[in-house]
Amino acid sequence: MRAFKYFGHYDIREVEVEIPKPKQGELLLKMLAAGVCGTDLHIRSHGDWIGKAPLHGVTIGHEFVGEVVEIREGTHFSQKYPHISGDIKVGSRVCAEPHVPCGSCYFCLRGQSNICLDIGHLGVTRDGAFAEYLTIPADRCSLVPEGVSDTAASLIEPLACALRAVHRSPLTVGSTVAVIGAGPMGQDVAKAARIGGASQVIVSEPDMMRRNMAEQAGCDAAVDPNVSDLAETVMELTHGIGADVVFEAAGLSETVSQAIDAVRHGGTIVQIGVPTGNIDIDIRRVIIGEISIVGEHATQWDFGAAIDLIASGKVDVESSVTHTFALEKALEAMDTAENGGSVKVVLRNFS
Ligand SMILES: [Zn+2]
Ligand SMILES: [Zn+2]
Repeated sequence: MRAFKYFGHYDIREVEVEIPKPKQGELLLKMLAAGVCGTDLHIRSHGDWIGKAPLHGVTIGHEFVGEVVEIREGTHFSQKYPHISGDIKVGSRVCAEPHVPCGSCYFCLRGQSNICLDIGHLGVTRDGAFAEYLTIPADRCSLVPEGVSDTAASLIEPLACALRAVHRSPLTVGSTVAVIGAGPMGQDVAKAARIGGASQVIVSEPDMMRRNMAEQAGCDAAVDPNVSDLAETVMELTHGIGADVVFEAAGLSETVSQAIDAVRHGGTIVQIGVPTGNIDIDIRRVIIGEISIVGEHATQWDFGAAIDLIASGKVDVESSVTHTFALEKALEAMDTAENGGSVKVVLRNFS
């Protein structure tokens, strides 16, 4: 089968490999669609994912939908969400949480497997989605309802991350929200904040296409940070108070500082953007304003909500898709996602 593997800095190669065999507790999936994520680009350009080096020769990609073609004997997984339940069978369409926790550390045993000390990640520590087939533990998978297209299903994972970011914030009905960075994640977070009851969603994004997309999706204001100051706009719109919650989805010292400028005293910044190294901020502002800065790491338990919101039409994830490529064009797809002029790039036609 065809697979795109990481060998080093800007060295992702198409290689021909054997179809993998599912181990105990695993499924074999035939891939149907996969999203290109900022994480994949970050791995390609920096050879690291939050301090972890990707395995040499690992297949990249972690946002996907696939059809179950083989289930290792003795593996059963029945999934129950409030609106979708059933057994995962051969022929089922599934998406998956791409983190594989150890199951035995302090945090796994406390029911916090998303912050497992020894967490594995598809596309980093085990083979990921930019391939014709993929093996994955059944308990990471979620059934995809019939009415959800393959493209939308491949975007369940990033929406689950966005929902996690909202769940990590105190956002409630009537909150004012600022979102810094309107790439694929910022777009999803803005939609999730709106669904979560925000009365105002203000986006800061230098790319005009991304600003327009955010406004079309219902944002109240979209600021070009090269032209106007986000904090000034937020202060104007909140009578000098500031945003209750700022979602930082850019990951630069400058943008984290903008988040501190835009958040109100006592407010919360959810850090989503992953910087390439340390960031430089004035921590005194955090102290004096009693500002909370929280991280987020996606969870299995946000998938049910993401699936329900997409299946019910309450969140349109497909509207962020600007480009679609066949799997064989995965490198071109990554270039398109990296070089601007795009928002979400999706791989289809895996064989
Ligand atoms: Zn991702
Ligand atoms: Zn663990």
